Amino acid sequence: MRPITLSELKQLARQSYDGLWSAAKSMDRDVKLYCHWTGGHYVQHFDDYHISIDADGSLYVSTDNMSELKAHTWHRNTGAIGIAMACAYNSFLGSHADLGPEPPTDAQIESMAQVICVLADVLDLTIDLQRVMTHAEAADNKDGLYLHEPYGPDADCERWDLYVLKEGDAPYTGGDILRGKANFYRAQRLLSD
Ligand SMILES: [Zn+2]
Repeated sequence: MRPITLSELKQLARQSYDGLWSAAKSMDRDVKLYCHWTGGHYVQHFDDYHISIDADGSLYVSTDNMSELKAHTWHRNTGAIGIAMACAYNSFLGSHADLGPEPPTDAQIESMAQVICVLADVLDLTIDLQRVMTHAEAADNKDGLYLHEPYGPDADCERWDLYVLKEGDAPYTGGDILRGKANFYRAQRLLSD
């Protein structure tokens, strides 16, 4: 993993536009952005994701090719970018969400929203549930595409990344908050060239 700025990431995404869209269209769907947490420590970055976000909000990439096939979201990796917050070690979803000793930080949340905004701008994506999903939402096929048996919070809860961003938040609000923040950045045009 190497560090990268948001504007450098924007350039990489531009170069990957055709590769991502042809891969997505081969599956008869749009390019998608999948938002994860790693379930590891703040400083741990994994090659399964194209982009990983540190606790301080700084960005790392595992590849310069955003259309490279990575193993981040089961049965959904073609034509998709995996973005992870490095956090959530020892998190557990029981009767309530326990995000463990290393929960998502405010810096990580804002940084992920900015990454979503920049990638969606470059890749011509509406920032909605059909195109920008948390792994919790993807695991439960919340976009209406039944691509696999559900394995998220609605089922056996094998994956529940970003189901909530903070302990005590209402169930299944993580994706809406991230998309809302990304759409705010988009509307402000703070990140556009
Ligand atoms: Zn995940």
